[in-house]
Amino acid sequence: MTAPLIQVRDLKVHFPVRRGLLGRPRGWVRAVDGVDFDVARGETLGVVGESGCGKSTLGRALLQLVDITHGSVRFDGQELVGLSPRRVRPLRRRMQLVFQDPFASLNPRMTVRDILSEPFVIHGLSRGAERELHGLLDVLGLPKDALERFPHEFSGGQRQRIGIARAIALRPELVVADEPLSALDVSIQAQIVNLLVELQRDRGLTYVFIAHDLKVVEYLSTRVAVMYLGRIVELAPARRLSQGARHPYTRALLSAVPVPDPTHPRTRQVLPGEPPSPMSPPGGCAFHPRCPQATERCRRESPPLYPVASGHSVACFLAEGDALGSTQASSLAGGSGVLAQPSSPG
Ligand code: SF4
Repeated sequence: MTAPLIQVRDLKVHFPVRRGLLGRPRGWVRAVDGVDFDVARGETLGVVGESGCGKSTLGRALLQLVDITHGSVRFDGQELVGLSPRRVRPLRRRMQLVFQDPFASLNPRMTVRDILSEPFVIHGLSRGAERELHGLLDVLGLPKDALERFPHEFSGGQRQRIGIARAIALRPELVVADEPLSALDVSIQAQIVNLLVELQRDRGLTYVFIAHDLKVVEYLSTRVAVMYLGRIVELAPARRLSQGARHPYTRALLSAVPVPDPTHPRTRQVLPGEPPSPMSPPGGCAFHPRCPQATERCRRESPPLYPVASGHSVACFLAEGDALGSTQASSLAGGSGVLAQPSSPG
């Protein structure tokens, strides 16, 4: 069994809400509020949820781009939380981010050559970089004269290819892709998805793929984590999730995914209300104000993640009766190496 590339334990990222830059905090936004998971080498962990559920903050926390409030993030066995910027820097070349918006994430005053050279310069790897740049153009399907041009001369899809080229320039092991398709036309999205799949196959990349489109996430991912109000409420192999989702929130998300077969239409389940503010999440199960199956217990207690099958965990009391005993769970975890640990309640 190989060790996971990423191990996350009880991770919390809380942002202070202040009046003015120097004011005292008036409250805290619990963007990520106690999550646990592993990511195996070479797999794709999809992370889905509505806007504001904390998925982008989680992605940035993995790369130490936001201050961690509590918990542990291990990369290839090394603890990242608490490392000084000087000690994080050499690790950064091994883990990279693809941004959501290819229009905003590329400096309009830099040529593509400057954009793609920057990672080599930052990490003192300029020797031989020129050959690498031409190789990147080939791999990413960009025109040969792209290096001397500026971002505004490219289409949205090409700009995202440039963003991906920048992310993989230093041959990282982990790429966190934060909604890389959401700013693109549907026809272009398919090309970028195929490109990501090819790159993973050819370079052995590990992805954390963040998106709100469950269909794309299911297609790309080995496993999928569903987030709600800063927590993972369900974690399952992608195929299993589409057929056997257990959490009422996951089921509602799945019911909104269009089905191509008109003879088998899905009944869309519309959840009442909006997600509560992460500044004042409800007590008990955070989903209870919108859950059609909530009980009195759900208002009082927060469910842990119950392991219900290999690699499949659900934070819902409805799954409690099917939860595997700790011996079964740990033997399955030993088999897959990726079973989530229960998150701490409350
Ligand atoms: Fe719904 Fe209760 Fe399950 Fe939460 S624990 S998802 S409120 S049934």
